[in-house]
Amino acid sequence: MCAICGCSEGAETRFTDSAGNTHAHPHNDGDTLSHGHTHDHHHGEGHMHSHEHPHEHHHGEELAHQHRASVATLHEPQHDNLLRIEQDVLARNNRMAERNRGWLEGRGVLALNLLSSPGAGKTTLLEKTIRALHTEIEMCVVEGDQETTLDAERIRAAGCPSVQVNTGTGCHLDAPMLAHALHSLDPPRGSLLLIENVGNLVCPALFDLGEAAKIVILSVTEGDDKPLKYPHMFRAAQLMLVNKTDLLAHVDFDVQACLDHARRVNPEIELLRLSARSGAGLEDWYAWLRARVAAAGLRAGVDRELHTSSSSVPPRRSA
Ligand code: MG
Repeated sequence: MCAICGCSEGAETRFTDSAGNTHAHPHNDGDTLSHGHTHDHHHGEGHMHSHEHPHEHHHGEELAHQHRASVATLHEPQHDNLLRIEQDVLARNNRMAERNRGWLEGRGVLALNLLSSPGAGKTTLLEKTIRALHTEIEMCVVEGDQETTLDAERIRAAGCPSVQVNTGTGCHLDAPMLAHALHSLDPPRGSLLLIENVGNLVCPALFDLGEAAKIVILSVTEGDDKPLKYPHMFRAAQLMLVNKTDLLAHVDFDVQACLDHARRVNPEIELLRLSARSGAGLEDWYAWLRARVAAAGLRAGVDRELHTSSSSVPPRRSA
């Protein structure tokens, strides 16, 4: 995660709203949650130097223990400090995520966090989903990318309000970023909020944003072994979408093996296969969304009674 790779050091987060207005927040100002560090490190036989130290990192008691086992003999004092800092970072994030969750539930807004590697097809899937369902389900989108507002522009062109969050060198969205985006986006009561996280199969898995569920998208060009290589992501996700199935004839990707791998790390994970490009399988995805929206509408009972008589469509904000 960023505490190790230092991806957010000195960065600032930029927010661009639906009207194209942009403002920036420094990323290490106490309201944000990423930082970097430098430490001494041993290499080979007695060789030692100090450098930035990028690698995948683990969190939580079990995971922290794994990391401790791998490095404790090398630099115990620094490692104790590092663990404490990381626990603080994630604890602060989790507190804000709970605030986001309460706010979203209070409004009857269903928030889904879409995660994948870069290029797996998140934005294309969102465009298709918006065009297919926007007359049926009120939707908003938070777009996360390191740079550019390209994806937010695509989402707006598809007919949906969106806020772009540019994380600079940061490799994930965190809960304060979502809080800020929500303030700008102001999603209507009973709407569906789709969050496209920064393309990355590692860090975004660790940061709860306050969403109702994480959805991981894996394209067939990436390889069916990814659930084993990036288990935290697939463990955190409720649903895995296998995308770009129109390319299956051209790549060595075993869908069943992929599912087996995903179930090995997360026995409860659901699987849908689709091609956002060709449209194959999209009806199953839409059905999954409709079911989640209906369930969220039921949870927001007061709003539903006040604003709609339908049992399958979530409440809408009153005029
Ligand atoms: Mg995208």
